Amino acid sequence: MSYKNFPMVPRVIFGRGSFDQLGDILAPKRLNINAPFIFLVDDVFKTSTWLTSRIPLSYDDKIIFVSAAEEPKTGQVDALVEQIILKSKERPSGIIGIGGGTLLDLAKAVSIMLTNEGEAKDYQGWDLVKNKAVYHVGIPTISGTGAEVSRTTVLTGPERKLGINSDYTPFDQVVLDSELTKNVPTDQWFYTGMDCYIHCIESLQGTYLNAFSESYGEMALELCKEVFLEDKLDKIESQEKLMMASWHGGMSIVYSQVGVAHAMSYGLSYLLGTKHGIGNCIVFDQLEEFYPEGVKLFKQMKEKHDIVLPTGICANLSDDELNKMIDISLDLEPLWENALGKNWQKIMTRDKLKDLYLKM
Ligand code: NAD
Ligand code: ZN
Repeated sequence: MSYKNFPMVPRVIFGRGSFDQLGDILAPKRLNINAPFIFLVDDVFKTSTWLTSRIPLSYDDKIIFVSAAEEPKTGQVDALVEQIILKSKERPSGIIGIGGGTLLDLAKAVSIMLTNEGEAKDYQGWDLVKNKAVYHVGIPTISGTGAEVSRTTVLTGPERKLGINSDYTPFDQVVLDSELTKNVPTDQWFYTGMDCYIHCIESLQGTYLNAFSESYGEMALELCKEVFLEDKLDKIESQEKLMMASWHGGMSIVYSQVGVAHAMSYGLSYLLGTKHGIGNCIVFDQLEEFYPEGVKLFKQMKEKHDIVLPTGICANLSDDELNKMIDISLDLEPLWENALGKNWQKIMTRDKLKDLYLKM
């Protein structure tokens, strides 16, 4: 048996208002005055001067606003890298992603592609990255994905939706300032928060479970229950606890795997462009058979926060489209094996999967 030796985020700052220390954190990392820091910022903040005015810019540092309306694409990463190379005198000192999972993943991927040849799609998979990435910092503004701690950056490429999983992917620094999440709309708060909840359930119910994953997963699950089911927290406590839940949920899957909801939601996302958070919710809502307790609590949370999920999203798909979705999903073998065990192919047949999709 050979155990995996995973990297972790080496530095993290946590606290309300810690964003103001970003200048001090970055200063010693500046290679020289021609090597800028590039801030990739969710364009939802374009007019939020309370945030943008606190981004510490000097010399040739730049802010690039990026829309999170769609999930990151490999081509988008390549275009950003080209734009950064063309506009910088030297290779950047660092890439700082400010936003949700979309911006965090873009920042990770761009930092990798600045030091590795070819196109982002060439690195989708496991351990294909050869050179250390440019210094990169993750600053989440919405909690749940765990992208701030994970060893992957999930990208949709021409042929597949698959992460760049590598030892160079994790951030060198993370800033956890819950104040940045204060204006997240309720629906989005729920969808992205449920990503964390589903990470916990899939990790804790999975066959890959071990003491490492279990300890983080249980912690994150407790925090999710406090945030989404109880009424005792004030707004700030709730934002801080969800931020820590996201972190622990991410840590839990580092050493295990996600499961059925993620495997199926990747299919939805590839074919219909359904975003990760809401896609996971749409799928998970139909998975009583696999996660009875988890789905029961999910439905309670959904009700408590008046969330109405879209229905019938697969109703008008052609057989070809359904087949493509099934291919994408079944391709994610480790997820299925974690969820259903070594003989997962006997349980999750194409017909079974099709029936499940048609319920959504
Ligand atoms: P997101 O980044 O896609 O953002 C969702 C929406 O929330 C966007 O409209 C965005 O503009 C808005 N938003 C973000 N912060 C806000 C704020 N503070 N105030 C108001 N609006 C705000 O959301 P997400 O759910 O965090 O990320 C989803 C992405 O993360 C997907 O692309 C998914 O593949 C990826 N993901 C990555 C990992 C990983 O380990 N790398 C894990 C899970 C998901
Ligand atoms: Zn997820």
